[in-house]
Amino acid sequence: MDSHRGVARRIDHLGRIVVPAELRRALGIEPGDELEVATDGPAITLTKVETRCVFCGAERALRPFRAKLVCGRCASELGESPGPDGGEPGGAGSGLAL
Ligand SMILES: [Zn+2]
Repeated sequence: MDSHRGVARRIDHLGRIVVPAELRRALGIEPGDELEVATDGPAITLTKVETRCVFCGAERALRPFRAKLVCGRCASELGESPGPDGGEPGGAGSGLAL
C-alpha cells in the first residue's frame, strides 16, 4: 500500500483539522462520509467507515466480508451463500454494527 508523505495541518480551537483534498480524493472520501478515529501509538488514524459495497457501491443488504462490506449479490458472486436475510429488498438498512 502506498503511503503519502505527511502534511502538516494546524488544529483549530475546536480540535478540528482539514483532511487534505489530495488524500480525500485518493481514498474516495466525500462530504458526509464517516471516518473512524483511532490511535496507533503516538499517531491518530482516520479510517473511512465503508457504508457501501466495495464492489458495486450498493448501499443495501450489506454484510461484512473480510473487514469490508459486500452486498448480497456480490457476496454470492464471490461464492458465498447469501445467508437467510441475503438480498432482502429495503431491509431495515445497512445495519451498521460497529
Ligand atoms: Zn455489490
